[in-house]
Amino acid sequence: MPDAKGASFLLDSPGPLVDALRRQGWRVIGPKLGQGAIVYEEIESAADLPRGLTDEQEGGHYRLREGDPDRWFDYVVGPQNWKKWLFPARQKLWSAERSKDGFSVESHEDEWPKTAIFGARACEIAAIEVQDRVFDNGDFADSGYTKRRAGMLIVAVQCARSAATCFCASMNTGPRAEAGFDVALTELETGGFLVECGSDAGAAVLDGLELADASAAQQQAGEAVSHKAAAEQTRTMPANVESVLRDNLDHPRWEEVAERCLSCANCTLACPTCFCSDVEEVNDLSGDHAERWRVWDSCFSLDFSYIHGGAVRRSTLSRYRQWMTHKLSSWHDQFGTSGCVGCGRCIAWCPVGIDITEEAGAIAAEPLAQEV
Ligand code: SF4
Ligand code: SF4
Repeated sequence: MPDAKGASFLLDSPGPLVDALRRQGWRVIGPKLGQGAIVYEEIESAADLPRGLTDEQEGGHYRLREGDPDRWFDYVVGPQNWKKWLFPARQKLWSAERSKDGFSVESHEDEWPKTAIFGARACEIAAIEVQDRVFDNGDFADSGYTKRRAGMLIVAVQCARSAATCFCASMNTGPRAEAGFDVALTELETGGFLVECGSDAGAAVLDGLELADASAAQQQAGEAVSHKAAAEQTRTMPANVESVLRDNLDHPRWEEVAERCLSCANCTLACPTCFCSDVEEVNDLSGDHAERWRVWDSCFSLDFSYIHGGAVRRSTLSRYRQWMTHKLSSWHDQFGTSGCVGCGRCIAWCPVGIDITEEAGAIAAEPLAQEV
């Protein structure tokens, strides 16, 4: 039994941990193979994990390949992320029924069993913490989100490799998760897992597992795994991107990228921090039943900026610039942090391979002269 958070142990495979979670009543959501990609769905045992697969990612490119059959987590992030569960793409908010006394309105909240997310990467934990600032923010807290977040346990997996699209090291969000998890696993090069206990809830889950204490050398081997993954990253975000974008709203680079951008919104849907939504009203033909739904939306859709008679951001240039400057610059003013965690999804899942690091780097390399 781990008696303190911060303690480290050894485990042969993730199987006993998945089994322990399920025995203790946790619904376990983890990585699975689905539609040729790694997706996040409920898993029943470690046999559901996509063991032996690895991924290949580049701008506009994602492929799964056969890898070392003994490795459990040699892929990085896929098209989905945990917001699919915490901030669902379609959510019923309330429904109303007409009766002889008028309308009765019933608010709707989905059932949320206690849920463990299994295999969250450092950048994904950082993304959840970014969304916490949006949805769990005191006076304007989203009750559904806060309920789901409170009933959640995080089992992190420390990345042992980076995809070519990853740049979390330059965003200080990875590849090693230092906090924000209940349990963290590092798959060691020699086989087996280093298990870190990050909270009392994590200690309770680990209770009853046969865990050997990790030696100092084994803990160092675990840290070396993350150092290697960090060293593999070639993409970086300019350190001064926040001020560079704020000061270069008329930079000609925006026109160049707008000529390539399809305004398809894929980047915002794949992004683990994007949170824009719309509200839809649905009635039946009789007018006796009505529902209100919240659905994901995107700043790339024309209607998103519709204000009294027309859209404010009519051009692709204005929409791409809005997305990128919000992510990397004005997000700091709004939420005190960057809106980007360097996961690289918007690069891999952009159908024309637009690369946020390349766009930011081009503007940072040749900024407009500032008027004095
Ligand atoms: S902007 Fe791109 S790299 Fe940054 S968090 Fe979103 S999807 Fe990941
Ligand atoms: S940047 Fe790429 S993914 Fe995003 S809207 Fe433009 S074309 Fe679509």
